[in-house]
Amino acid sequence: ALLASPLRAAAPSTLPLPRRLYGESRVNALGVDPVVERERAPLLARLAVPMPAAPTDDSAASAALAMDALHRAQPGWNAVPLAERCAVLRRAADLMERQMTELVALLAQEGRKTFGDGVAEVREAIDFCRYYAEQAEARLAPQALPGPTGEKNELCLHGRGVFVCISPWNFPLAIFAGQVVAALVAGNTVAAKPAEQTPRSARRCVELLIEAGLPADAIRLVCGPGETVGAALVAHPRCAGVCFTGSTQVAKIIQRQLAMGDGPIVPLIAETGGLNAMIVDSSALPEQVVDAVVQSAFRSAGQRCSALRLLLVHEGVADKVSEMIAGAMAELVCGDPADAARGWSVDVGPVIDAEAHAGLSAQVARLEREARLVARTAMDARFAATHIAPVAFELKSVGEMKQEIFGPVLHIVRWTGPVDAVIDQVNALGYGLTLGIHTRIDQRAERIAERARVGNVYVNRNMIGAVVGVQPFGGEGLSGTGPKAGGPHYLYRFCGEQTVTVNTAAAGG
Ligand code: NAD
Repeated sequence: ALLASPLRAAAPSTLPLPRRLYGESRVNALGVDPVVERERAPLLARLAVPMPAAPTDDSAASAALAMDALHRAQPGWNAVPLAERCAVLRRAADLMERQMTELVALLAQEGRKTFGDGVAEVREAIDFCRYYAEQAEARLAPQALPGPTGEKNELCLHGRGVFVCISPWNFPLAIFAGQVVAALVAGNTVAAKPAEQTPRSARRCVELLIEAGLPADAIRLVCGPGETVGAALVAHPRCAGVCFTGSTQVAKIIQRQLAMGDGPIVPLIAETGGLNAMIVDSSALPEQVVDAVVQSAFRSAGQRCSALRLLLVHEGVADKVSEMIAGAMAELVCGDPADAARGWSVDVGPVIDAEAHAGLSAQVARLEREARLVARTAMDARFAATHIAPVAFELKSVGEMKQEIFGPVLHIVRWTGPVDAVIDQVNALGYGLTLGIHTRIDQRAERIAERARVGNVYVNRNMIGAVVGVQPFGGEGLSGTGPKAGGPHYLYRFCGEQTVTVNTAAAGG
């Protein structure tokens, strides 16, 4: 289990996190998550039980009815005192903590997650609830503004109306929960549209929110295909804002639809894909680079928006780094995380579904024709129809990168000359989500970070980040609109602002 080895535990990615946000620290000294260790037997027992049936799909017509009902319920939810709205989020976090094993098992069954990834995801969902509750209390209460004598000014924030939250399958609990609770705590009611592949995880989250005291009429789970059901929510005249996480292509469709509709002008918060690069110069420590590359490119089978896609390595160290990457890839274990005997050592599980598998297989076949194969992890033939073996190809230039490949596929390009030219090539790709830098020259790291148009920069470490309240996450350009999820400015986009000016001289007689 290379991705969970002691070497990884010592890497900066496992810095202890504030206890305030976490029930217990992420990993112990051996790199084994204590929750995964403790819950091994109950998790396996749960996996033996088949998943519950998926919720029934909505139609465009039922989605529209849900929007109307949510519109009627919104003033009531908005009038609930802020402290109580925050309390709902905190109680939901406590419930998720108590249901950790059940939720991890569901993520493994429905989302095809390894247990380590599942535990990390449940923790992230819990953190979103607690962090947004804390931020809402600190930031959303009415604020006194300066005014001339005889006048009182106040800035009040309120829910905008019905927020449509549309989420992807790759973090079916954490991203779903993060979007929904941010919109709710600001006073909106929510139409929550999960990805077609993962409606059960979303339903469980909604059930826990209601159990935590959320009025049932403040949220509607609306399931079904994005092109029909998702589109009906976005097009509805009562839609007061859209919070979307998914592909760049669909974000653009939604943006166009919002622009063309008859409804009001509403915000779109979009978190989309990336062509994430790591720039390695000749002063970098190869062992550190290789560890970071393997983690960043292949963890979660590369199905993370932040994952490393393009390794830009200086000519002077390129041969050595490539050779070491090949060595590390040879040690990765592809397998079934639910296998009772061997599941605990699995680094790379299956990709989400047959459609994703077919698409990724075609991309790999194209690269086999067009690029030089550097390394591929050996995989048992049993997994050929469900898994994609981690693979690395060398390309001649950055310009050959076309689009995000959402799987364990790494592209390597060598560079020489000024580093500014390399950054400019990365910027020219138009995405701007994550960037890794490996160098022992501090000024160079600063220069690259300053020049790069990206949302999240990671220096001399892997690119697995997005820690709520610690490394808020989000990109720019083709990667999204910001503000960053899990950051201090996120909640404002879900709010309407109103100033109230009172003539106190007149009121006082
Ligand atoms: P996707 O864009 O195919 O689907 C995302 C959601 O949009 C789904 O719920 C889908 O049903 C819905 N949808 C599809 N068409 C729609 C339409 N016309 N109108 C309204 N809704 C519609 O993405 P995916 O395959 O579920 O997820 C993978 C993508 O998500 C990758 O590109 C990945 O990079 C990105 N992602 C980004 C982040 C981030 O924070 N930046 C996080 C996770 C995933």
